Amino acid sequence: MMIAREELTPSCACGREHSLLTEKIFIERGAADAMPDAMGGSGLNADFAVIYDENTRDALGGRIRGAHREIVLDPKGLHADERGVAAAEDKLGDESVLVAAGSGTVHDITRYIAAKRGLPFVSVPTAASVDAFSSGMACMTFGGFKKTIPAVPPRLVFADTEVFARAPRRLTASGFGDAIGKYVSLADWDVARILTGEYWCSGVAELEQTALEETAASAPGIAAGEEGACEKLMRALVLSGIAMQLAGSSRPASGAEHHISHLTETGVPWLPPVDALHGEKVGVGTVLSLRAYFRWRVQQSDALVRAMQAWRQPSEDMLRGEFGPAADAVIAENAQDCLRAVTPAAVKERWTAVKARLSLLPQAAAVEKMLKAVGAPTTLEELGIDPDLEGRILRWAPYVRNRLTFMRLMGASSAVSDIHCCIGHIE
Ligand SMILES: [Zn+2]
Ligand SMILES: [Zn+2]
Repeated sequence: MMIAREELTPSCACGREHSLLTEKIFIERGAADAMPDAMGGSGLNADFAVIYDENTRDALGGRIRGAHREIVLDPKGLHADERGVAAAEDKLGDESVLVAAGSGTVHDITRYIAAKRGLPFVSVPTAASVDAFSSGMACMTFGGFKKTIPAVPPRLVFADTEVFARAPRRLTASGFGDAIGKYVSLADWDVARILTGEYWCSGVAELEQTALEETAASAPGIAAGEEGACEKLMRALVLSGIAMQLAGSSRPASGAEHHISHLTETGVPWLPPVDALHGEKVGVGTVLSLRAYFRWRVQQSDALVRAMQAWRQPSEDMLRGEFGPAADAVIAENAQDCLRAVTPAAVKERWTAVKARLSLLPQAAAVEKMLKAVGAPTTLEELGIDPDLEGRILRWAPYVRNRLTFMRLMGASSAVSDIHCCIGHIE
C-alpha cells in the first residue's frame, strides 16, 4: 500500500493547521523498488548516503540501490548517543540526503544528524519494532541522560514487507506492545481534554484509534508471522509517528503506559536495571494501566473531589527519596505541576464523562491475551521486576513527565485519601 500525505491530513475542527513533512509512505513487498521514482518525485534525486547497522544491511539484502555512500555501523553496543553519532558522522561525506535503514536506533542517529546538518531524511524500517520511524523526534542519550530532541521527520518511508515480516519475532512483539499501548495514551489524552480543556484533535485521535484497532484485530496473524497482519502493525506504528507530527507532540502516542516504561530507564534506586526492549516495557505498562483504570472507574466523584482538595504536590524531599540521582531532572520537569489544571469542580462536573471514556477501554485480560499470543511479556516479573513494586511504580511513574494522565490523578488521590481501590491494590 502507498499512503499519500493528502490522505493523512485530518479534516477536523481543532483549529490548528496541521503540517506534515512526510509525503509518501510505502508499506508493501518490494517497497524499496519505489525508491528511485519516489525520491525523484520529491526532489530528492541528489546523492544520498544510507546508514545501516550490519544486521539491518543483511536483512535488506541489497534492496537499496544507487547509494552514493554506504555507512555500516557495528551493532554491538550501538546506541543513539555521542558514540553512535560520531561513528556515523566520521564516515559521512557531503551527501545531501540521508537514508536511515534499520531499527529505532539507526533512525534516531540518522535523523539527529539530518537535523544538525539541515538535510532531508528518508526512512527504511527493517522491523515493526517501534513507532518512532515517522515522528520528528530523536530519542538520544547524551551525557548519560535520555533526551527527546526535536529533529526531522522522514520525507518518505519505504517499509518492505519481505524484510520486516521476517524480522526477529522479539522485535515484532515489541512493536506490538508499543502499538497496543495507544489504548491508554489515547484515553489519557481524552481525559485531559475532558478535565482541563487541553488541546485535542478528533482527526488525529481517530487516525491513531483506527490503526490501533486494526492492529489488535491482527494479533493472531502477527503471532503467525502473516505478511498482511505484519503490514497492519507496521502501518499502525508509522501512523502513530504521523499522529505525533500532526499533533506537534508525542501526546497521542504516549501516556501512563510509556511513563511506566520510562521510569525503568531513569535509574531510580529502588528499581533494578531492566534488560528489555522499549515496546516490551510499554506492553507491560499497558496491562498495569488498564487494570488500574478499570478499578478506578467505580469511584464516586465526591470521594475524588475531597481527595483533590486535600492533595498537595509531592515535596522535593519526597521526590529525592523516590528518584535518587534523577531527582533534579524530575523536580525541574514538574515545577509547574500539570495536576494544578484539574479543579475539584471539574472533577465533580465531568466525572461521568471521564468514566464513560474509560469504559471504552478494553479489559486488561484481553490485551494480556494478545500480548501473550505475539510472544510479548505481560508482567513485571517477566521484566525482572519484583511484582510487589507495582503500587510504587504506578504512583511515581507519572512524574517522569509533567503530562496529565489518569494515572497521575489516581496517584495523587490515593496519596491523600483512604479511597478503597488504592492504585497498587490487586484484586
Ligand atoms: Zn486537528
Ligand atoms: Zn513508544
